[in-house]
Amino acid sequence: MRVVIVGGGISGLFTAYELWKRGIRDIVVLEERYLGSGGSTRNIGCFRSSFTSPEHVLLMKRSIELWLKYRDELNLQLKQSGYLWIARRLETLDVFKKLAAFHGEYGVPTRVVDPDKAEQIQPGLNRKAVVGALFDPTAGRMPVLENIVKLYLKLKSLRVVFHFYTKVLRLHASNYRVKSATTSRGVVDGDVFVVAAGGRGTRELLSSINVEFPVVDETRHPVITEPYTEVIRPALIIDWDTPGAPYVTQTEHGGLIFARNISDAHEAPITSHRIDVIGTTIKPIIELLPALRYVNILRYWIGYYETTLDHHPVYGPVQPYENLFVAAGFSGHGLMMGPVTGELIADWVLNGKPSIPLAENLTIERFKTGKLVKELAIVG
Ligand SMILES: Cc1cc2nc3c(=O)[nH]c(=O)nc-3n(C[C@H](O)[C@H](O)[C@H](O)COP(=O)(O)OP(=O)(O)OC[C@H]3O[C@@H](n4cnc5c(N)ncnc54)[C@H](O)[C@@H]3O)c2cc1C
Repeated sequence: MRVVIVGGGISGLFTAYELWKRGIRDIVVLEERYLGSGGSTRNIGCFRSSFTSPEHVLLMKRSIELWLKYRDELNLQLKQSGYLWIARRLETLDVFKKLAAFHGEYGVPTRVVDPDKAEQIQPGLNRKAVVGALFDPTAGRMPVLENIVKLYLKLKSLRVVFHFYTKVLRLHASNYRVKSATTSRGVVDGDVFVVAAGGRGTRELLSSINVEFPVVDETRHPVITEPYTEVIRPALIIDWDTPGAPYVTQTEHGGLIFARNISDAHEAPITSHRIDVIGTTIKPIIELLPALRYVNILRYWIGYYETTLDHHPVYGPVQPYENLFVAAGFSGHGLMMGPVTGELIADWVLNGKPSIPLAENLTIERFKTGKLVKELAIVG
């Protein structure tokens, strides 16, 4: 059986890995540009299972288990230093208490902490600006590029075939089966096709076989500083009560990354820089951590949150085609979902159903039936 995977990002790579582990030996990955050139190397490398929908919590929890397993298996780097969700308002603390109870139901041990404890977790936190926080100790971060390259090299050693700079222009189907893909470098046949081409890429490709995939790439503008010794202790600090939920993380190389959801044109070109966002993004975080006012900005980049109508990914079979599957539209959380994505797509391809039944709620059918799944914690 030949499986053709469209997209050389984290979703395509983990799908290839999981299929290989279950005995599939003829796997071809088609990538429009270079390894991880979509969202997979434009993100900030964090993971958590402290979400607000059962689907996200359970899937992320499983994904973290798998990340830890693959850390040993693939020699990846990963650190569970926790997420600190900052509350500036007392009403937010009430929300955090409900969230902690909700997470507890699914075995995710988040807890509400007072300003003293929050300051212990993050020294230098401005207590005057904070009424408390939600701490998720199982969350963490990773050096993204290093991990992706390690996974890629492993797949190469297993003889998974990669064609870079090969754009899939359209899929061809007959009798409800996809037979081949026309690419910028020729036609590729296959028995099973998995489209893991991010947001816009997946939307455009599925439209070639008349499947509507409602997703939009929302533009994001992260900023990175010069490297410093460790100043940010948790994997991520998020200012929940400021619009656009600004956040800060510190990479393994020492750079501080700041980002915030700001209103901007969707799918703005990768070169449409917004230098004005730098101040807007950093200012609220400096209010929380005054020592950061001395940091020097090094550079800035654009990336996209591949956002669906309900901020959940789209997984599984694409009706009416028998051999077409999708893994896309992660709405800003696809890196952390990489391992569970591979597991679920391999389940669907080989067993016809996912090993986590709740994942059935995330198929593309939900946009037709209107059974959308709600998620409130969409930043970070
Ligand atoms: C600023 C920012 C911060 C983020 N932070 C986090 C985070 O901390 N944690 C987290 O989990 N997620 C985060 N994300 C989101 C995360 O980066 C994405 O959800 C994830 O990378 C999606 O991976 P993917 O493999 O599904 O898609 P992609 O990485 O986009 O891969 C899809 C690939 O398909 C290719 N492609 C597209 N069309 C075609 C075609 N027609 N033919 C061939 N190839 C094609 C593209 O070139 C691309 O390489 C962040 C995103 C941004 C922008």
